[in-house]
Amino acid sequence: MNTFNIKMLISKYPLLIELIELKEISWFNPNITSLKEGLPYVGLDADDIKEASDRLNRFASYLSSAFPETAVNHGIIESDVVSIPKMKVKLEQEYGAIIQGQLMLKKDSHLPISGSIKARGGIYEVLTHAEKLAIKAGLLKESDDYSKLCQNEFKEFFSQYRIAVGSTGNLGMSIGIMSAQLGFSVSVHMSADARQWKKDKLRAHGVNVVEYQQDYSIAVEQGRKEAESDANCFFIDDENSQTLFLGYAVAGERLKQQFEDMEVLVDSQHPLFVYLPCGVGGGPGGVAFGLKMAFGDNVHCIFAEPTHSPCMLLGVHTGLQDAISVQDIGIDNITAADGLAVGRASGFVGRAMQRLLDGYYTISDQRMYRHLGDMNQLENIQLEPSALAGVIGPIIVTQNKEYKQRLGFDDVKMRNATHLVWATGGGMVPQKEMASYLAKSAL
Ligand SMILES: *Cc1c(COP(=O)(O)O)cnc(C)c1O
Repeated sequence: MNTFNIKMLISKYPLLIELIELKEISWFNPNITSLKEGLPYVGLDADDIKEASDRLNRFASYLSSAFPETAVNHGIIESDVVSIPKMKVKLEQEYGAIIQGQLMLKKDSHLPISGSIKARGGIYEVLTHAEKLAIKAGLLKESDDYSKLCQNEFKEFFSQYRIAVGSTGNLGMSIGIMSAQLGFSVSVHMSADARQWKKDKLRAHGVNVVEYQQDYSIAVEQGRKEAESDANCFFIDDENSQTLFLGYAVAGERLKQQFEDMEVLVDSQHPLFVYLPCGVGGGPGGVAFGLKMAFGDNVHCIFAEPTHSPCMLLGVHTGLQDAISVQDIGIDNITAADGLAVGRASGFVGRAMQRLLDGYYTISDQRMYRHLGDMNQLENIQLEPSALAGVIGPIIVTQNKEYKQRLGFDDVKMRNATHLVWATGGGMVPQKEMASYLAKSAL
């Protein structure tokens, strides 16, 4: 299977030694470019994001009727940004470093409908598919009030169609709940990592949940197979979908507006660092693309992965992208951060975004658990383990002299900086499950 020689690969990329030893490492890409130079490689632009944003606006009246919890925000699925000063003090004490600038948290963990970052891309792709079908059938026009999609006529129409997806849990939740609500017949192929409560919840929504003893790549493969055998079945491809990616990207302009409202300044003298937990890469990659389009070269995106699942770091660092998996170099892809338990990164995202991402690092499960406890105790914010991967990012940046020097971040700029940790999931974790996370955090 392997077309590369591991020994040669390690001698060319010595960082892999520590990666294989499951050490926590970081790598700041020396080949980053400006947005202007990097953008052509993405293959998408501001117009594509605008189209996604407009589509989400068209669906707002529908979402606000179908999911009443979205009505307070008029059917726009968006999360808060909050300051986490106590967590900042805790991190500074724990790591013996001063975090210059302010520390904030983006609470995608508490997005409505599915309680994770997947409420951006996953829901957006289902809505895009539904709109396309309904318009083609002559049942819907873009100028209509989309709340009409709540009517039985539409549910019956969509029930002729199927949707399939492979997931470690949260993507399945978003796509399952959204598809079932519209009336689709939907199958979610769940990897072994997926939490039981997520499967139970989906089944309660009438979703067909198929369980596997294997990891994410097998669940995705099975979902793809199911769809291939049925012309009426649409497969949502987490590894390659530009639609998912664009659903995530809308976060950029939304954050820009939030920062303006909060008077948080981002410009060449006030850099913004964003720390994004990465699984297959679509979520953090799409968000990073949106952030770049919104803030240009003043935003610096850094991906965080578990030490047991560093697929994006591996793919980008070696240039092999999706031709290599963590299992190929003897890493097991077993992590408590179920949202990040992916062994092979999206080749599309790696290739599209590598020039626009400042760096990558890995974090141990134990550390994610510990900070899960801190976030609960100090900030009263409950998150799932994956969502804590970004929290040590500000420490890593602070301690990396080479990176700061290379990008010209002197003390003045760093004091003006905003560090934004992207909390990607946890808002819907049942109390009992949260109690067991907290018990582990105290170990
Ligand atoms: C899916 C997920 C991510 C990462 O998204 P990818 O698109 O897989 O990279 C991060 N955190 C949580 C909680 C997730 O569910």
